[in-house]
Amino acid sequence: MGELKINLIQAKSVFIKSGLPGSDWVINPYNGCLFGCMYCYAAQIARWKHPNEEWGTYLDVKINAPELLKKELTKLEKRLKTKNFGSVFFSSVTDPYVGMEAKYQITRKCLEVLADFRYEGSIGIQTKSPLVTKDIDVLKKLKKVSVGFTVTTLDDKVSRFLEVKAPPITARIDALKKLHNNTISTYAFIGPILPYFINTEQKINELLNKLQEVGVNEVWFEHINLSPITKARLYQYLKKEAPELIPYFNQTDTKDYREKLEKIIQKALKGRGLKIGLGKVIYHRKLPKKK
Ligand code: SF4
Repeated sequence: MGELKINLIQAKSVFIKSGLPGSDWVINPYNGCLFGCMYCYAAQIARWKHPNEEWGTYLDVKINAPELLKKELTKLEKRLKTKNFGSVFFSSVTDPYVGMEAKYQITRKCLEVLADFRYEGSIGIQTKSPLVTKDIDVLKKLKKVSVGFTVTTLDDKVSRFLEVKAPPITARIDALKKLHNNTISTYAFIGPILPYFINTEQKINELLNKLQEVGVNEVWFEHINLSPITKARLYQYLKKEAPELIPYFNQTDTKDYREKLEKIIQKALKGRGLKIGLGKVIYHRKLPKKK
């Protein structure tokens, strides 16, 4: 990977209508992400702004985001109040607790703005970083907040391999426990469901056992979603580091594979009393016709 580039930018808008399932608004305090996960779909979305830069090597810090959020909320106040505010999601094209958050605190300040505004809609924060626990004091001031961790494995070697610079999985599990112990609602986002590493009944059961042990009572599952750019980037990496895994990734786009996997998940979920995000496994795009 190339040299890291941190750009301080003035955003034009930060409280954006969301196209994501389950959320009405989205806030991205940053553009880009230094965690550089090999399967990251945001790498494709970000390309129009950074066409020549490698994903994971740059970060735009929206330095005016908190101030802008305050203005946008004030402007929308009447509409928000008549529509029960709507749910807010942090974030769709970055991780809101990427390491630079420790320095710039853009996410923290945005949460403070939402707390001061007495935002009544649900606020979901999804991250791979235990840095979120530094904001437990602010999270406690929000009316409805839930913190989700992306959990794709229980093995630090696997998380280091595919989520190259993200905090290891054991640190994420500890953070989930800390949030739960501080009465913050938590969930786990099991996505992408990795082939080879996690797609067996035994592995999924182990994962769910661990999550329940640290107080998680809601899980989201998402199939792997390889857009052309994401696939090219991932496969280039696999070819170099572990070519034997490519056939496992190749099969994830077939209907048979997905149906089999969903049966495994449903079986593993039985009797656990866990809430399932959106009530189903998420697809991002249509599958090809049955092969
Ligand atoms: S943490 Fe999320 S946004 Fe960042 S690289 Fe990984 S998948 Fe992409």
